[in-house]
Amino acid sequence: MLTIQCPHCGVQAEETELSPGGEAHLSRFGPGSEDQDFEAYLFFRENPKGVHFERWRHVHGCGKWFHAARCTVTMEVFGTYSAQTTEPPKALRDKISEKRPGWTWRDIA
Ligand SMILES: [Zn+2]
Repeated sequence: MLTIQCPHCGVQAEETELSPGGEAHLSRFGPGSEDQDFEAYLFFRENPKGVHFERWRHVHGCGKWFHAARCTVTMEVFGTYSAQTTEPPKALRDKISEKRPGWTWRDIA
């Protein structure tokens, strides 16, 4: 079973205590944006075989949203962090790079 530590309350929560919220760090496009940008925001998602950044909610715990970095192949959770960020913390990206040499997140090394 997948277990993820909630960064807010510190509980090591089982998957059944959590609710998935899809891909993390999406850029939202508002009024005045191009139709292609809004279409991409609504419909296009990364589907990597490997490291993925996801939104989760500790629905049967503190109720707060957070982000998690997880490998979609091995289910290894690299870490969790606040959802109030626009990109993964550098320390977490460095930790992932140590375990997955050559890995990059979008255009950030
Ligand atoms: Zn929690």
